[in-house]
Amino acid sequence: MSTQIASLSISARAILDMHSLNNEGGEGNQIQTRMVDIYGADERMHNVNAISGDMLKHIQAQHFFELARAQGLPLCAGCARFDANRINADNAWVSAMPAKDPEALDALLRHCALDDVAGILMTAGGRSLPRKSVVEFGWVVGVPTLVESNSYFHVKYAQRDQERRAADASAREKEGSNLGQAIFHRPASSGVYAIICHLELGRIGYNDITQTYALSEEERHRRATALLQSVTHTFLELNGAMRATQTPHLVDLKGVVTWSPSGATPAPLLSPLMEDYQAETARVAHALGGGAASATFDSLGAFAETLRARVDDTIPANLVPVR
Ligand SMILES: [Zn+2]
Repeated sequence: MSTQIASLSISARAILDMHSLNNEGGEGNQIQTRMVDIYGADERMHNVNAISGDMLKHIQAQHFFELARAQGLPLCAGCARFDANRINADNAWVSAMPAKDPEALDALLRHCALDDVAGILMTAGGRSLPRKSVVEFGWVVGVPTLVESNSYFHVKYAQRDQERRAADASAREKEGSNLGQAIFHRPASSGVYAIICHLELGRIGYNDITQTYALSEEERHRRATALLQSVTHTFLELNGAMRATQTPHLVDLKGVVTWSPSGATPAPLLSPLMEDYQAETARVAHALGGGAASATFDSLGAFAETLRARVDDTIPANLVPVR
């Protein structure tokens, strides 16, 4: 038996150690990590390490792109080479784009699964036609008092041979090339992070202008499956900055998943910055009724199993009767 789902939310606490997913840039040879101010459940302000939602959205888009290629989902020429301009970089499609916005949006939804799911602002050809993302991530925020950032000293060693050192120094002087010895400081952060994610599965293939679906139920189901898989992969494999030498240690993942069968009832999403967010989320889902349901998970394995059950069982609900 399949479950019709219009929206699904994930609220989780992840233990991430020695990661550097969120570098802001550098000052001199000092790379800065991102710090934000938040108001805690203890009614005080806290300055904590954080990773922007843009980073998670980008990671999820990358996982979706890989799955779409493997599963034969349609991708526009821009997305087929993971160009950040997406369908705006598909010159053939842009020149054949329908003149009216409702038809252009239908054509976009049919042409590219990634633009359908991740959203895009169509600006090519002088247009300004938005497709709102089906996936939403919040900032990944360090839980106050449970996260630390430190800066670590690194050295890029120069050649020891005198002749080579002299050649490097002259190249540096003439061309400003980055040869020779260099020292730099790079941050790493460890602790408990709060993550939130919301999926509007009912909007896959949905034309927000005409309020109808541009895709068959079968195609929407295929995209929903790839979307749920890509979100699972995002939590389990946090690609990001500095991965070559500072791949994050994912030590634990706890949280709660909620889902709702209709656009009229939200899948509740409470912040894991709250101490008792798992129990409170389950209470809210129960109190909402309307078919809203929840499942808590207390380990990485349980998270993977909970999402796997959704992947195997979910069909995207219709927001409106398909005409
Ligand atoms: Zn695309």
